[in-house]
Amino acid sequence: MATQSSVRLHKMMYGGDRRAALDGASFDSLNPATSSVLGQVPLGLERDAEAAIEAAHRALPSWSRLTAAQRALHLRRVGDRLEAKRDAIARLITEEEGKPLAEAQIEMRLTIDSFYWYAEEARRAYGNWIPDPIPGRRLLTLREPVGVSCGIIPWNVPAAMIARKAAPALAVGCTMVLKPAEQTPITATAVAEAFLEADLPPGVFNVVTGDAAAIGATMLGDRRVRKISFTGSTEVGRLLLRGAADQIKRCSMELGGNAPLILFQDCDLDRAVAAVATLKFLNAGQACISANRIYVHASIHDEVSQKLASRAAALKVGSGLDPSVAMGPLIEAQAVDEVHALVNDALAKGAAALAGGSKLVEGDYARGFFYSPTVLSGLSVNMRMAHEEIFGPVASLFRFDTEEEVIAAANDVPYGLAAYLFTENLSRAIRVAERLETGMVGVNEIRIGAAEAPFGGVKQSGIGREGGREGMEEYLETKLVAIGVK
Ligand code: NAP
Repeated sequence: MATQSSVRLHKMMYGGDRRAALDGASFDSLNPATSSVLGQVPLGLERDAEAAIEAAHRALPSWSRLTAAQRALHLRRVGDRLEAKRDAIARLITEEEGKPLAEAQIEMRLTIDSFYWYAEEARRAYGNWIPDPIPGRRLLTLREPVGVSCGIIPWNVPAAMIARKAAPALAVGCTMVLKPAEQTPITATAVAEAFLEADLPPGVFNVVTGDAAAIGATMLGDRRVRKISFTGSTEVGRLLLRGAADQIKRCSMELGGNAPLILFQDCDLDRAVAAVATLKFLNAGQACISANRIYVHASIHDEVSQKLASRAAALKVGSGLDPSVAMGPLIEAQAVDEVHALVNDALAKGAAALAGGSKLVEGDYARGFFYSPTVLSGLSVNMRMAHEEIFGPVASLFRFDTEEEVIAAANDVPYGLAAYLFTENLSRAIRVAERLETGMVGVNEIRIGAAEAPFGGVKQSGIGREGGREGMEEYLETKLVAIGVK
């Protein structure tokens, strides 16, 4: 973490107040399009995390005892404040994370929607009266909040990810401490401001910026924390699951992806190619649900690859603040190096670059972390891209002949977050969707997220769901009450 003085020091927020780190340390957040320092944030450590957990613990009894309708009012007010700050936070997302403004606005829509939607859904968290097999007894279930919950999020969706965790947690009566990523802490402090402005009771929602290992270990070690909700890499998820095992904490894990996207010979080709280009270059390919392996039927492979390459070559790359820019920078220099290493591995093993394939380092690009929109064809299983998450703007095309073969290839990774298929044959669409080992399948559709819809993966892509009714279940316990009746 680099540090520098003379730029604005943003504050983290817990117990209803803006706070510096207890030992006064801070770190810089950079703009990936220019490498310039956007601002500083507190470098929180164990003591800061402990203080935030204490605040969340103190707030829990009164927050959980409010009626669902009362909590819903608070959530709506947070949504209103975010709506009022929408353009400012969208701009901040672009400056800190890099995605173009139009994409940042879409992220803000999901952020705000999540608060409004869970404000409504909060009122529908109720249990059952169970038909009892024994006379003289009644069985019912109550739904209760899990308790103090901790959220840890990555940088690629820095505002919506907060909403996807905080809105359902708070809706059902949990309190939360959230740790944003090192690369996007200022966005988190801006979202936290909306909670302050909405006059949420102190301690209900808290943000601690700083050292991941110190804050994470404090969250895992504190008995008052009953739930860990993590989004990020499978590697860190595994580490947190191990740590959570000591106290058997509830866990939700939204982990790495490696999405297959299949173009069958009977797809609407132009529509499918446009969708693939949109999905692949969204957020410069830095999305867990981005298409990692694009399987194209042999009969349409050459036409698809040429059309995709022309689209990639036509994309304007630059600072996301420029409205004519379609794709922004990657998050940091190391990300550019990692993407380039994957591309070079594929090229060395026989793939062909139909577009891009290089770092962008000339002129304005020299100050930021840019990579050219890339299309590679001739991919095969011996290449790293067949197994590893790319997290960059690289469309890697694999050729296939039969449905059976492509399903086997699509499922041949330890991950299972999203998958996509394009076909105009309804039976094929249903058949293949049912056999893909993923938590989500887009059929002739790449937009798979909504506040209303459950989002999440199977296999090593995670445990649990975010969004929808299922997202609320992650923060609820079920208590059985058995009553003897005379
Ligand atoms: P990451 O390294 O796992 O970081 C994610 C978060 O975990 C950050 O806040 C990070 O903090 C924190 N962290 C790191 N080490 C930790 C530790 N020892 N204890 C506690 N927290 C720790 O993930 P990333 O590489 O930044 O993000 C990209 C990954 O996220 C990709 O694999 C992507 O597929 C996945 N992702 C999944 C979903 C989904 O919904 N399934 C959504 C988006 C992204 P620092 O930043 O301070 O290190």
